[in-house]
Amino acid sequence: MSASSESQITAWLATQQDAMVALLREIVDIDSGSYNKPGIDAVGDAVRRFLTGHGIPVETIRQPKHGDCLRATVMRDGGEAGTGSRSNIGGNVVLMGHRDTVFPDGEVARRPFTIRDGLARGPGVADMKAGLVMNCFILAAFAKFGGAPAPLIGLFTGDEEIGSPEGRAVIEADARRARAVFNSEPGRVSGNVVTGRKGGVFMQMRITGKAAHSGGSFTEGISAIEELARKIQAIHALTDLPRGITLNVGLVRGGQSVNTIAPWAEGEIDLRYIDPADRDDAVAHIGRIVEQSFVPGTKADLTINGEFLPMTQSAPAKKLFELYVKAAADSGFATAGESTGGCADSGFTAGVGAPTICAVGPVGGKAHTPDEFLRLDSLVPRAQASARAILRLPTTGL
Ligand SMILES: [Zn+2]
Repeated sequence: MSASSESQITAWLATQQDAMVALLREIVDIDSGSYNKPGIDAVGDAVRRFLTGHGIPVETIRQPKHGDCLRATVMRDGGEAGTGSRSNIGGNVVLMGHRDTVFPDGEVARRPFTIRDGLARGPGVADMKAGLVMNCFILAAFAKFGGAPAPLIGLFTGDEEIGSPEGRAVIEADARRARAVFNSEPGRVSGNVVTGRKGGVFMQMRITGKAAHSGGSFTEGISAIEELARKIQAIHALTDLPRGITLNVGLVRGGQSVNTIAPWAEGEIDLRYIDPADRDDAVAHIGRIVEQSFVPGTKADLTINGEFLPMTQSAPAKKLFELYVKAAADSGFATAGESTGGCADSGFTAGVGAPTICAVGPVGGKAHTPDEFLRLDSLVPRAQASARAILRLPTTGL
């Protein structure tokens, strides 16, 4: 690394705020909820156009159900893209982000991208379309000034908000060869990054009872709704706040009519945990509750619909974090690490051993709500901080 490349790259990024906002407006104004594959792929088209316009090759990894994965590569200065392992100097640096949002189709028409008082708003503006924009400009900066110190991979995936059922394999494959992973989820309102995340398991229980007229033949019925209610109480009772284990049945459905004993009911369960060792135990416990019939005659089954691994801080990840804190200070902002119960793809990369730092994206808040906002004045400094950290990664590995 030469001192001039750091100053060239950060100086160029400092001139790009308006261009960043233009790209952000373009991609926020495309509905891209997790189940809207055409929308997520349209966001991908905009990203691809930007990157290829800066001479960066972009590979499309087709996904049958969810958004395709895009993989952009900026070569090492004067060299080839690395295929080496993490243990040698050829390990890649991965910039990661998801293009899907939690919002339904039509959300953009209701509340398109707007700017007021230095805050941008719109569906997914912080979580995490601003992070995608930031990654695009970091890749462009390295491409413009002769390449990156290590092969730089930009991953733009399409199904994070539902647990990355298809993106996970792509992410893990790159993470296994990475010497550092930067996930551009939104920076906390405090300016902090995320150094720990809970694991999450999303499950569904389906209960069958027996229909009967609740007036005329009450005793012939078996209530699936009553069974569901009892199971919910037993499952919620597994919550252990001091250990960081939480249970929430967040969705319920069931029944046929007010005057019918409910023949069916179902509930969706969200388990969160900190210690990887707690995962199997909690899932087994839930399994036993689902198997048990509180109301005689009911039957139930349990399926796992999605899952995130916890992100824990390894020693190399701690070094990466310390390097980032210094890079942030040199980019004009203070940052610290914090833990959150929210899950993200960074759990997968940490899970395969890649030194990972999360929430390095531009700063925003109120994600997943109509009040979501992004601080526009954080676009440039956060991009500069990641670029500086990339330039300062030790050549011998973390
Ligand atoms: Zn996100």
